[in-house]
Formats: sequence, C-alpha cells, structure tokens
Amino acid sequence: MAHDYDDQNIFAKILRGEIPNDTVLETEHCLAFNDISPQAPVHVLVIPKGAYVSYDHFAAEASDAEIADFTRAIGEVCRIKDLSGADAAGGFRVISNAGPHGSQEVPHLHMHVLGGRPLGRLLDRE
Ligand code: AMP
Repeated sequence: MAHDYDDQNIFAKILRGEIPNDTVLETEHCLAFNDISPQAPVHVLVIPKGAYVSYDHFAAEASDAEIADFTRAIGEVCRIKDLSGADAAGGFRVISNAGPHGSQEVPHLHMHVLGGRPLGRLLDRE
C-alpha cells in the first residue's frame, strides 16, 4: 500500500499551528485534542506529529520512540478523561479509520478515543 502523505490535510495544519485546536495533551511525538464534532461525551483524537497517513504506515515506518510515545499518549488521554476500562461504570473505545473502507476523512493517522456513555457494539451488522 502506498503511503503518500498530503501535507495540506487539516491535522497537518493543526500541527503547524495554522488552525487552532482544543488540546488535551501534548507529548514529544504526539498531540491529543478534542474532536470538533464529538460522537460521545468524550471524543479525543490522538495524532503523531510525524507525517503518517494510517496505522499501518505508522507501524511500518515510525521509530520505536514514536510508537511508544503514541501508545502511552492514548493511555494518558484515558487517564486524563477518567475512562477506566477496569471500572464497571466506565470504559472506552479506541478506533483508527483507514482508507475508503475505513471511512477515513483526514489522511493523517489519528486514534479516536471515545467514552462517557455506553458505545454499543463495534459495527452495525448489515
Ligand atoms: P476520520 O473519519 O476517522 O478521518 O475522522 C476525522 C475526524 O476529524 C472526525 O471525527 C472529525 O470530526 C474530526 N475533525 C475534522 N476537523 C477537525 C478539527 N479542525 N478539529 C478537531 N477535529 C476535527
């Protein structure tokens, strides 16, 4: 799969400071910010600062430091937003869409961290 990165995508513009964002967390290699159109009471997007299109692109080409930072940033967002998966009243879902079949709108890797209400099943059965 080709991973041509379009540096005019909206998250690239956020990373360059060209458009604002509602930051939840910034780390050495990642930024987490509230989704502009939340699908749940908690809806945070976690993105790497590097130019990666999708999860498979990131997993293939990111450094171990970037991958560790991204993984820990997602966990830190869960902690900041009080979304304990071990709590019977809590929990969350992490989703990354890729490509047309994944309905990816923004071609810069992002993890959706969703929570704050029961989220239903992962996919609608068709
Ligand atoms: P996806 O379909 O997985 O590519 O999701 C893209 C997400 O980016 C959607 O949930 C949008 O609401 C969100 N989004 C688009 N523009 C912005 C923005 N400027 N700030 C925050 N979230 C955004």
